[in-house]
Amino acid sequence: MQVDLVSIGAGGTGLGAACAAVEAGLSAAVFEKRPKIGGNSLLGTGIFATESPVLERLNMHASSDEMFRIAMEYSHWSIDPILLRTFIDRSGETVAWLEDMGVDFYGITPLALDQLPPTWHCPRGGGPAIVDAMAAFCTDRGAEIITDAAVTEILVDDGQVEGVVVDRRNGEQLRVSSRAVVIGTGGFGGNKEMLRKWVPGYQDSMPCLGVPHDGDGIQMALGLGAGTEGLGHMQYEAPSAKGSLFLNLCIREPGALIVNGRGRRFMDEALVDNPFESANALMRQPGKYSWTIFDESQRREILRKGKNKALGPLYEDQMRKPELFDNAIRPRKGKIVVADTLDELAEGCGLDPAVLAGTVEEYNQAARAGRDPVFAKPRRFMTPLAEGPYYAIRGELGYLETMGGIRINEQMRVLTDDGSELARGLFAGGADVGGWESETYCFRLAGSSFGFAINSGRIAGEQAALDKQARAGGP
Ligand SMILES: Cc1cc2nc3c(=O)[nH]c(=O)nc-3n(C[C@H](O)[C@H](O)[C@H](O)COP(=O)(O)OP(=O)(O)OC[C@H]3O[C@@H](n4cnc5c(N)ncnc54)[C@H](O)[C@@H]3O)c2cc1C
Repeated sequence: MQVDLVSIGAGGTGLGAACAAVEAGLSAAVFEKRPKIGGNSLLGTGIFATESPVLERLNMHASSDEMFRIAMEYSHWSIDPILLRTFIDRSGETVAWLEDMGVDFYGITPLALDQLPPTWHCPRGGGPAIVDAMAAFCTDRGAEIITDAAVTEILVDDGQVEGVVVDRRNGEQLRVSSRAVVIGTGGFGGNKEMLRKWVPGYQDSMPCLGVPHDGDGIQMALGLGAGTEGLGHMQYEAPSAKGSLFLNLCIREPGALIVNGRGRRFMDEALVDNPFESANALMRQPGKYSWTIFDESQRREILRKGKNKALGPLYEDQMRKPELFDNAIRPRKGKIVVADTLDELAEGCGLDPAVLAGTVEEYNQAARAGRDPVFAKPRRFMTPLAEGPYYAIRGELGYLETMGGIRINEQMRVLTDDGSELARGLFAGGADVGGWESETYCFRLAGSSFGFAINSGRIAGEQAALDKQARAGGP
């Protein structure tokens, strides 16, 4: 098999690259290890963009300059400004590109409390709608997408990429010639060995909330001598519970009381709307777990108002369905406790009843006084816990994926540690690479991981087309 471009992985990155390549007249093949395309991109809800046609239609504004400044300040200027700027500057136009493929962006929702300017472009049908549109776009123009086909080796000769070796599930091995290869294998969220090696504070008990990828792309790139950037950064989400989306909305209820494994508060609970930062707060707690506690009056309130409004129209309806709520918070030993009294609740959670009673007493006093003297929780989220039954959900330090690894430049070319290009024609993007995000996912640029995957893939595909033109002696 011989093609102009090979994408390793059929997620946002690999499909983005294949679409840009075929659009520029290149031939392309996408190899996907799993039986189904899409990876974590299927789970994404919205993508980041500034100055997009959707913003314009909705009479909203998110300026590229402002978002650039916010992101650089959030990271303390520890990330690559040129890479970030390139991504941000292309993001609005990439939304238009996807709209031309038939993706219907119905709105831009705040991802967390007070997330402004708005950037989280949500398509009807979520991640699958984007994945399907890109897959159709590239296959309609001749690209092949081959599933159950794992790339196991990237071939490089004399500083030039020459192709890949692919192992198919049916036992067949393919050698594919190509002068451009784009790595987009989605990180190493499922590779415990790599997690233990690279992620400080990682524990095997941490739930992976996304597709448990194996880290193939990063391992192949490092094996060839690639440099690293952001290797070990995680997209944490906490508190998290394995179970339904609904359970995770309840566990991140800003009006609840949240305590650590010793029964003490440790943060402004309203921070749960930004679960990337509340993960940092949880990381500091003994055992890295928490209990989200609310009472019967809050349960009624949640059902009446859909109190967890941060995701706007996305989930509000679901919050109001009592049967979903009751199903989600059915007692499960050590995970979800329902009890008539606080003492029984403490016992079920393995907490010291006297400590929990003291914490609740202090919290209730603060709620009645309308001022949280320690954590400065906004008054509107503080309600006393006074009426049984009481509910407690155990929260863990979960993660969606890893987000860093291979060092690249703004053309998505893989670099060595000294900043030189590793091999002509070798590109990488999405969750396999670093430099676009620091240790904590910046919620102000909501949608930036899925957005970065698509944009980085797209840019890599365009660069591969320019390389081909250059080899042929110009346009
Ligand atoms: C629950 C959840 C919700 C999320 N919501 C959002 C959101 O709303 N907005 C946002 O911006 N981000 C979101 N993210 C993150 C976002 O989905 C990812 O950052 C993004 O999709 C990563 O794209 P990718 O192309 O790097 O990887 P993926 O989309 O995961 O694709 C990688 C693909 O490579 C394949 N692969 C792996 N190894 C090989 C190999 N050796 N050969 C061939 N194929 C291989 C995998 O099977 C997979 O299909 C969410 C993540 C999760 C888990």
